[in-house]
Amino acid sequence: MTASAARHYDLLVIGGGPGGLAAARFARRRNPELKIGLIRSQERSVVPCAMPYALDRTISADDFLKSDEVLLHQANIDLYLGVVESIDPENRSLKVTGSEAEAFTYDELIVATGAQPIRPPIPGADLPGTHVVKDAPDIHAIAEDMKSASRGVVVGGGYIGLEVAIAFKNAGLESHVVEMLPVCLGNVCTELVARRALDELVEHGIIVHNGQAAREVLGTDHVEAVRVEDTVIETPLVVFAIGVRADTRLLSEAGAEIGRFGVVVDDRMHTSLPHIWSVGDCIEHRNFITGEPANGPLATNAVVQGKVAAVNVTGGRREFIGFINPSVTRLFEFSYGSTGLNADKAAQAGIEVILGQADAFTRDKPFPGSGPISLVLVFDAKTTRIIGAECVAAEGVAERLDALTLGIIHHLTMADLAEMHFSGHPPQTDVPARMAIVNAAEDAMRKAGLL
Ligand SMILES: Cc1cc2nc3c(=O)[nH]c(=O)nc-3n(C[C@H](O)[C@H](O)[C@H](O)COP(=O)(O)OP(=O)(O)OC[C@H]3O[C@@H](n4cnc5c(N)ncnc54)[C@H](O)[C@@H]3O)c2cc1C
Repeated sequence: MTASAARHYDLLVIGGGPGGLAAARFARRRNPELKIGLIRSQERSVVPCAMPYALDRTISADDFLKSDEVLLHQANIDLYLGVVESIDPENRSLKVTGSEAEAFTYDELIVATGAQPIRPPIPGADLPGTHVVKDAPDIHAIAEDMKSASRGVVVGGGYIGLEVAIAFKNAGLESHVVEMLPVCLGNVCTELVARRALDELVEHGIIVHNGQAAREVLGTDHVEAVRVEDTVIETPLVVFAIGVRADTRLLSEAGAEIGRFGVVVDDRMHTSLPHIWSVGDCIEHRNFITGEPANGPLATNAVVQGKVAAVNVTGGRREFIGFINPSVTRLFEFSYGSTGLNADKAAQAGIEVILGQADAFTRDKPFPGSGPISLVLVFDAKTTRIIGAECVAAEGVAERLDALTLGIIHHLTMADLAEMHFSGHPPQTDVPARMAIVNAAEDAMRKAGLL
């Protein structure tokens, strides 16, 4: 096909995940005249974070599918379903297969190809009956296998793995989690909070094989069992949730700089190639606190970055400040979350910390719905600034972590947080003397000799 037959766009976006969609839609909001095209290999865009909840029918399988009509067509963004095979940065063109058009040219290109889930390099890891969790077809295949299974094994005790394991349990399967670390959620929470998560899982009947690695998936035509260290767990259903790897293929082959975590971008989300930008799970930027190269495969990051890129390709200036990675999940009765650096990660980065802790209630104790809340704040011992937090509570975890993330962004100190003013109402909050953030900040001040 000749270049003249190629379809031309002012802005072309590759990827229909949160990053690509945010970029295309925000660019449209800033410029109604721009000719925008979006190419996506997925048949339907999804809300990935909602997908595990379709497995036990908390939501229906359709509820996590996004509407192209609302998101793209009504915003006058042309959608192409197909696979981008290659990018030619010199001629600002793309080759695509499986789509109504095979060649495209662009003025500006935003690449949001996301990340691929990792299957462990162990024998049998791709046998029928083994799955990863990434897209709608994965969820449909797992749901189908769940119909005839009485037991399911999840390998990986992070957020996604636990959400799947809980869905297994809720759907009546015997649910196993195999986790290499001594606790679940150990990548994002310190032992203190993560141990609470482990206790809650066990109390609710999830069988956790912690401190153990899956060594082999056994079976001939289909999975029959997983060998975990010295134990063999018989099962027809295995889900791997051990992490993701940035999908950098297109930009790597086009000659862009690729770092340890993904496509290297500057603060404006520009890659090392002219007129090519990149956002979402496929990129590498830096950790906001340490300044070291980092990633943050979260939809919340992808959307912020998509907007940053959109502003910059439409003539404005906006910068991504770096990864802080606030995240939260819910197990059975409690939510668990963290933001910034926990004590372990701070130690790895050579930062000496002071921890502030508080235990309180989410509402005044006699009121219905009241439950315990535990909060840990992490402060840089030298500057007394907040650099991280972890929280477990029956409710209100995300809101507290969001406030604390703002504190991290604006370099608030333990004294600033101890001065925080709160709204209070006993049916909705704890009593004023027991506000968890204030009390944890004061605890840190006491340890620092400042109170
Ligand atoms: C089960 C699950 C639960 C999650 N829960 C949360 C949560 O609670 N909170 C949170 O913040 N994050 C969560 N995440 C992570 C979040 O989903 C990702 O961070 C987010 O989807 C990344 O968005 P993205 O746009 O970078 O990439 P993706 O969503 O991975 O989208 C990539 C897009 O690129 C397209 N693409 C790739 N290669 C090509 C190609 N060659 N040609 C054309 N198109 C291509 C794909 O079709 C897709 O549309 C969860 C993820 C999963 C899987």
